Amino acid sequence: MKQAKNDMIVSLKDIFVEFDGEVILNHINLDIRDKEFVTILGPSGCGKTTTLRIIGGFLEPDEGEVFFDGEKINGIPPHKRNVNTVFQKYALFPHLNVFDNIAFGMRIKKLPKDEIKRRVKEMLAIVDLKGYEKRSVSRLSGGQQQRVAIARALVCDPKVLLLDEPLGALDLKLRKNMQDELKQIQQKTNTTFIYVTHDQEEALTMSDTIVVMNNGVIEQIGSPTDIYNEPVNAFVADFIGEANIINGTMLGDCRVKVLGTELECVDKGFGQNTPVDIVIRPEDIEVVAPEEAKLVGEVVDVVFKGVHYEMTVMVGNCEWIIHSTEMSPVGSKIGMKIIPFNIQIMNKMFLATENTFFAEVVSAYEEENYIEVKKEDSVFRIDGYFFEEGTRLRIVLPPSALSIAGDGVGDIDDVYIESVIFKGEHNEIILESDEQKWLMQSDQDEQVATYVPLKFDFSQATITVEEA
Ligand code: ATP
Repeated sequence: MKQAKNDMIVSLKDIFVEFDGEVILNHINLDIRDKEFVTILGPSGCGKTTTLRIIGGFLEPDEGEVFFDGEKINGIPPHKRNVNTVFQKYALFPHLNVFDNIAFGMRIKKLPKDEIKRRVKEMLAIVDLKGYEKRSVSRLSGGQQQRVAIARALVCDPKVLLLDEPLGALDLKLRKNMQDELKQIQQKTNTTFIYVTHDQEEALTMSDTIVVMNNGVIEQIGSPTDIYNEPVNAFVADFIGEANIINGTMLGDCRVKVLGTELECVDKGFGQNTPVDIVIRPEDIEVVAPEEAKLVGEVVDVVFKGVHYEMTVMVGNCEWIIHSTEMSPVGSKIGMKIIPFNIQIMNKMFLATENTFFAEVVSAYEEENYIEVKKEDSVFRIDGYFFEEGTRLRIVLPPSALSIAGDGVGDIDDVYIESVIFKGEHNEIILESDEQKWLMQSDQDEQVATYVPLKFDFSQATITVEEA
């Protein structure tokens, strides 16, 4: 099958992958333009490497189509795709010198000797290793070895280079140097780079386009500035850079209520009285006299960060971070001025404000006044209620009624933590069980992408009979 010709080099259409019954890529769509530097960014386990393996041909998707330069390439093995890969562990041949490592693939292809020599020399200049031909690779630094690996991957002139956390093994300083070099190598060779990392700073520095992934889906695709300035939701805002993410209510077009205060913003079309997430970057808050601002807070902590001061400010019970070149001492009252353009309004990731689920009464104890109910594959006890066996109940729980239990004492086991976002007062945690998502409020810091037992506090529940 052919796709209409355009400047797309790689297109993924509706890709779905499951491992052991678990959804790893949930119908993702991605178009990558020729000669672009694209970074797939996301937390560990979100499906970045799986996406790369599908493009490289190392893994076939359960559903969906992969296009390369307009041609469908499902089923075509890696070596027949015009793609090469650089991994974190660069796997050079330790007994060969730099020249022979880079020349290896061309010798297998039986290219003429002169051409091999010319191409290796060209590549060595591009990766800044001129004169290193005869050096044994085991006598190179980590950064130099990685450059040899990149030269080896690029020397056969692939249209697309896949890079899976290639700088992961390097120390911070070397990593930073290599980021600049990689971008230059990409521009010099005019190759499409598809780069995987969980390091947001690396993504912002190098990419033309960033693809933010979370839990098997693409949350946002955009330029580094778009993603930083206009994140689509709290996950992206939190993952990219520092942010104050606060609950708010959109009162109407360009009017938002935050912590009981009405502020002017530039966003429209959210309707009236709609709960939203609000993101304000720490550098976008201007410190003014208290009487000059609608939001007033007290400085509780100050840390000098070299270029700016990072101040923690409490507005009531809500914690804000402000970056400013001028320091306001701990204990001072400050006004916080935010221009409408710098208030970013986002749809909530969890649309409801409470958790609603249905469960069936499987045993009922009238005298002891408790019931046992079944939800998904779990059976749990609810004290203080009596309903006949077989009754279907509608149970509503506020986020504060959910908690993470110790092993073996959860009401539902193996619930996946999808995101943890600090909202100034508490962490807002989104979890996923087999059948639904859950919203939990917590003061603990929980680890995303882990499975935990979930416990309910039914004293906060509203329980009604669901009529058939
Ligand atoms: P990291 O940054 O940690 O490398 P990632 O975003 O690249 O993470 P993937 O390697 O794509 O994540 O893995 C996504 C999920 O798929 C993980 O939960 C992983 O355990 C699971 N997974 C990956 N490969 C397999 C496999 N062959 N069999 C079963 N599960 C797998």
